[in-house]
Amino acid sequence: MKHVNVALFAVHGGCPHMCSFCNQKSISGSEGNLKKEDVDSAVLTALKGSPDGFGNSGEIAFFGGSFTLMDREYMVSLLESAYFYVREGLFKGIRISTRPDGIDPEICALLKKYGVTAVELGAQSLDNRVLAANNRGHSAESVVTATRMLQESGFETGLQMMTGLYLSKDEDSIETAEKIIALRPDTVRIYPTVVLEGTELDRLMKAGLFRPKGVEESVALCAKLIPMFENSGIKVIRVGLHSGGGVEGKMTGGAYHPAFRELCDAKIYLEKAVSRLKDMPCGSYEISVARGEKSKMTGQKRQNIVHLQSLGYICRVSEGEEIVKYDIKIRKCDDIKRT
Ligand code: SF4
Repeated sequence: MKHVNVALFAVHGGCPHMCSFCNQKSISGSEGNLKKEDVDSAVLTALKGSPDGFGNSGEIAFFGGSFTLMDREYMVSLLESAYFYVREGLFKGIRISTRPDGIDPEICALLKKYGVTAVELGAQSLDNRVLAANNRGHSAESVVTATRMLQESGFETGLQMMTGLYLSKDEDSIETAEKIIALRPDTVRIYPTVVLEGTELDRLMKAGLFRPKGVEESVALCAKLIPMFENSGIKVIRVGLHSGGGVEGKMTGGAYHPAFRELCDAKIYLEKAVSRLKDMPCGSYEISVARGEKSKMTGQKRQNIVHLQSLGYICRVSEGEEIVKYDIKIRKCDDIKRT
């Protein structure tokens, strides 16, 4: 069964800081505070399509804000509502996201008590200079401490990082990825910076003090980061902000594309094909990829095929067995016509 997340947004709930890039209302498309009844309503709507529940494939997820730093009674009321459906066996568990400084042993025990199975931390960077410049209000060391505490408590642990923040260079992002890999989280999300109206980054950009990276530059960087994680056995579950909500209408700069991950994957495949083909004579080749990866090798609007053609390689893409994601096999093939 396909994994299902019933996603609920607690807008700026519990945030002790206003991070340079954040405008939660734009990201979530939600204006008001999440209520207990909203949990029931979202879960019951999801269950209409699957009355027996989602078993091991479903989670109730609280995103946005700093869940564990919210008013304690309010946080528990949301967890209680969600935990009811977990106890009924309709969902596997509850997923929350929070800040590294919102984790301590008491919180870990409370989250366990109310059926939380996965915790994601907004790390954003593991460079203290970048964290301070973007008003995160926590250190790289607190990410390490919180991650270890969550792992020792048995939570599935996810880390979120951002690229292209104020005063961040590509080398910083690569270093952050290396430090995250050393922490061995279960999952990672990568968010290239999107500048939203009304944020500190918007002000810095308009004052000429910050130049956000566009889509192309961010895709090039993320195409380096994704294989670093995936080759280390860490699943990258999201790259780029979700479409929908208010992002499209509220962004003033930066790297947003509704299919950002697909662009990164296409870039990864193109670079791999170019590096393998460069030692082969120009001509016709078949490139085989893992099942389900053909469109990524081909690229949007066949861009990768067209690019390879411009280098003198006429290529056809097929899917093969025993090929792992992001790997390719190339064989000479004389029956392909130029398109
Ligand atoms: S990024 Fe997270 S911690 Fe920072 S203001 Fe937004 S929700 Fe709060």
